[in-house]
Amino acid sequence: MSKQKRYFLSEEEIPRQWYNIQAEMPNKPLPMLHPATKQPIKAEDLFPLFAQEVSRQEMDQEHAWIDIPEPVREQYKFYRSTPLVRAYGLEEALGTPAHIYFKNESVSPVGSHKLNSALAQAYYCKQEGVTNITTETGAGQWGSAMSYAAKIFGLEAAVYQVKISYEQKPYRRAIMQSYGAQVTPSPSMSTRAGKDVLTADPNNNGSLGTAISEAVELAMTTPNCKYVLGSVLNHVALHQTIIGLEAEKQMQMAGEYPDIVIGCFGGGSNFSGIAYPFLRHNFTGERNTRFIAAEPASCPKLTRGQFQYDFGDLSGLTPLMPMYTLGHNFMPSNIHAGGLRYHGAGILISQLLKDGFIEAVDVKQTDTFKAGLLFATKEGIIPAPESCHAIAAAIDEAMKCKETGEEKVILFNLSGHGLIDMTAYTQYLSGNLVDYEVSDEEVARNIKELDKII
Ligand SMILES: *Cc1c(COP(=O)(O)O)cnc(C)c1O
Repeated sequence: MSKQKRYFLSEEEIPRQWYNIQAEMPNKPLPMLHPATKQPIKAEDLFPLFAQEVSRQEMDQEHAWIDIPEPVREQYKFYRSTPLVRAYGLEEALGTPAHIYFKNESVSPVGSHKLNSALAQAYYCKQEGVTNITTETGAGQWGSAMSYAAKIFGLEAAVYQVKISYEQKPYRRAIMQSYGAQVTPSPSMSTRAGKDVLTADPNNNGSLGTAISEAVELAMTTPNCKYVLGSVLNHVALHQTIIGLEAEKQMQMAGEYPDIVIGCFGGGSNFSGIAYPFLRHNFTGERNTRFIAAEPASCPKLTRGQFQYDFGDLSGLTPLMPMYTLGHNFMPSNIHAGGLRYHGAGILISQLLKDGFIEAVDVKQTDTFKAGLLFATKEGIIPAPESCHAIAAAIDEAMKCKETGEEKVILFNLSGHGLIDMTAYTQYLSGNLVDYEVSDEEVARNIKELDKII
C-alpha cells in the first residue's frame, strides 16, 4: 500500500494578490484589434461587453500584482487552499525516480478550477451595478462555476450551452439550473447568430464558437447585462494564478521546486494559472523550469496551428487576437474533453510559446483515459477528461526520468474531477472510445481562410 502526502495553507497564507504576467513578459503581446476598424483596442472599447474592472485587467501591462478583493478572497476560503499532493502511489506504479506532485483544483464546490475566475468576474459585475450576466459553456464546467458565482453575488445568469453537451451531459445542465441559471441549448432561435446557423443547418449540434456569438449578442443587446468568459482572455488567466501562487508556497513546504510544470490546455486558463507564478522566475534567470501545455490531438492549435490574428468566435464579433489558432471556422471532433475543444489559444500563451518560454504536446484521447485510470487507481480521484491530458503528459515525463535515472520534480494541475463524465469512462472501459486525428489538409484549409482577415 502506498502513501500520499498533502500540503495545505492556512487562511492567512492564502494569497492576497494575483500575478499579472503581462507586466513582466520580456516581449509584450501584439494588441487586440477592433473587428471592424482593425485598430488596436483600449480597455474602454471592452466596456460595453465586459465589466470595466476586468476590461482594465485585460489590458494592464503595468501592475505585476493585483489585489484580490476581500469578498472574493472570502469565497475562495470555502475551498482554498486546494491541496498540493505528492503522488507517491503514481510514482511507485511507474517505477520512476521522479517526484510527482499535483495541485488538486477538483475540490472546488463545482469540481474544477473555473470557480477561481467566476467568483472574481461576478464580484466585479455586481460592484459595477450589473444585474445580468451571460456566457457560453461547452461541457458545462464554466457554466456551472458561473451559475454558482452569480448566485453568490446576486446576479441573474443566462447560459448558452453547446447543444450536443446540453443533450449528452444533462447533469451539468441540472447543476446550472440548480444554482438558478437559465440554460439555453445553442444554436438557439433567441439570437441572430443562432438563427443564422440554424437556418443554414437545422440539425447543427452547436460549437463553442456559436455559443460565444449568441452570448455576446445577448450582452450587447440587453441593458445592464455583461458577458463573462471562462478562458482564453488575459484577465481569466490572471484570476487563475491563485493556483500557482498557492502551489509555490506549498512546494516550499515540501522543500522542493518543480523542474517541469504541466497543465492541460483548452483556452489556457488552468495552464496559465499553474504556470505563470513559476514562469516569473524564469524571466529573471533565477530558474529554468520547463512548462508543458497538453492539448488534444484532435484540436491541436498549439502544436499545429498558426500564429495569426483571428476571431474568438464563429461569427467574428469578438476583437481580433494575435494567437496560435486552427481558424475560427475549425469544428473539433466531439471528444469527451469538451473543455479542450476550442480553436485558439489566447494572446499571452501564444506570445510565450512563440518566444520559447513554454512547450506544447498533443495527446490522443485513448491515451488520456489510460493515464486517467491509472491515476484514479493510485491516487483515488477520477480525473476530468480534460485533466487526463495533463496526467498523460506528466506520466510521459516521469517515464523519461525512469530511462535517464533523473530525479526530476514534476508538478501538474488536476483541473477537475470526472464524476459527471462517467459516460466517457464507460465508453473507454468497454473499448468503444476512438481517437480523432486532424488531417494536414483540414488544418491548412481552415488556416487559409485566415489570410483574408489581415
Ligand atoms: C474548462 C476546463 C479545462 C480547459 O480550459 P482551460 O481554460 O484551458 O483551463 C480544463 N479542465 C477542466 C476541468 C475544465 O473544466
